[in-house]
Formats: sequence, C-alpha cells, structure tokens
Amino acid sequence: IILTTMIAFWFISLGASIYLSKWSMKPVISAYEKQKNFVENASHELRTPLAILQNRLELLFQKPNATIIDQSENISQSLAEVRNMRLLTSNLLNLAKRDDGLKVELSEVDKKYFETIFDNYALLAENSNRQFTSSVQFFGKVKLDQALIKQLLTILFDNAVKYSDTDSQINIKVEKSSQSLTITTTDNGFGISDADKKKIFDRFYRVDKARTRQKGGFGLGLSLAKQIVTACGGKIDVQDNQPKGTKFIVKLKV
Ligand code: ADP
Repeated sequence: IILTTMIAFWFISLGASIYLSKWSMKPVISAYEKQKNFVENASHELRTPLAILQNRLELLFQKPNATIIDQSENISQSLAEVRNMRLLTSNLLNLAKRDDGLKVELSEVDKKYFETIFDNYALLAENSNRQFTSSVQFFGKVKLDQALIKQLLTILFDNAVKYSDTDSQINIKVEKSSQSLTITTTDNGFGISDADKKKIFDRFYRVDKARTRQKGGFGLGLSLAKQIVTACGGKIDVQDNQPKGTKFIVKLKV
C-alpha cells in the first residue's frame, strides 16, 4: 500500500510540475513588445515596395536612351508601388489612431441603412464579375455606429471579392433577434484552412503573401474588422462555407 501510494504521489507531483512549468512559461507579450512587433512588421512591409521603386528609378537613370515604351512601363510600375505605399501608410495611421481607443458613436438606423450599402456592393460586384445577393431581415430600428459598421461590411465584402474567382457568389445576410444583430457574409471562394483561421485576425497576417500583395492587401483588414466589432461589444467568427468558401459571422449587441 505504501509503495502504491508513493508511486501515485510521484505521478501526481510530476503531472502538477509539468502543468505548472508549462503555465509559467507561457509567453506574455508586453505592450512594448507589441509595439516593437508592429513597427518591425510595418517597416518590413515598406521595405519591398521601396526596394522595387529604387530598382525602377535606377533603371531609368542608368538607361536614359531606353525606348519610350520601356520608360513608361518603368514609370507606371514605380507609380503602382508609390500608390501601394500611400495606401499602407494611411492604413497604418488609421490603426495607430484607433489604438488610442476607438470611439463608438451610436445612432438609430433602419433596414434602409443596410440596403443602401448593399446597393453599392451590387454595382461593385457586377464590375468585378461576382454574383452578389443580400437580405436584410428586421423591422424597426437598431442602434449602431454607422461609419464603423459600414467599414466592417466593406472589409468583409472586399475580401470576399479578392479571395474568390470570377462568377463566384457572395451573400450578406442581416438578421435581428431580441438581443443581437447578426451579420453573416458568405462566399464560395478560395476558403481558409483551419490553421489559418486562427491567425487571420492578427495584424499583417496573410495566408498567401504573394497573392495578397498582388491583390493590394496588407493583412490589416480583418484585424481592423475585429477591432471594430470588439469596440462595439460584439464578436466575429470565421467558418467554412458549404460546400466551398468562407463564412464570417458578426454578432452585435443592439
Ligand atoms: P488583406 O487586407 O491582406 O486582405 P485581411 O486581414 O483582410 O488582409 O485578411 C487576412 C488574410 O485572410 C488574407 O490575406 C486572406 O488570405 C485571408 N482571407 C480574408 N478573407 C478571406 C475570404 N473571404 N476568403 C478567403 N481568404 C480570406
């Protein structure tokens, strides 16, 4: 009995020490480290377009007798990089401003608010050869921050367009229950693996860097979306869409 008790005690204390050591080793990211990561990521993002721009300008400088066609190709590629950097810096400024605390200004809206936004998306979808449908199922009024929710919807809609092929289907549904407003966006595009689902809300995270960069993404959209939803006291989740694609579910308290 004594031996069995001792072995049992040894196992329990071994288990407890493994558990405790794991727990105490869990990395805690300080505000300083978070800021450092952010600056490192931002600098890294700017380095590539700056290097491309430098190469292009050097080419122009070294080959002053190049054909007009070659020169204008160089200039238009350089301009594309400059545009990219302007977009990135304005995104970064927005995020930095928002880090000081996102101000939520609630006002009452009815279904017309969503329908107007979706009418614009229908036009955008048509221009990019996607099929867009929407449904707004609630009566009366709800209280929300009009500018923030519009920005959130735009991030989700833009992504659905960016990460799908032409002729794909995109749907946004808005439903209200007694306590909450649920916004569900679905697309039958490329989909997101389970491992990536855990990371897509992190700043600068992109599933496929090369493809996203080509589509003008910096990996900031969904982190901004999450920031907006959290500030509004809500939740955002991502799931697979059946049979294919991605579904984002936003629940807001109204
Ligand atoms: P970006 O601005 O680069 O698109 P996001 O933060 O909005 O960055 O998204 C992060 C990553 O999540 C994207 O790079 C993309 O790979 C993936 N993603 C986002 N939305 C979708 C979607 N609807 N379908 C497939 N992948 C998506």
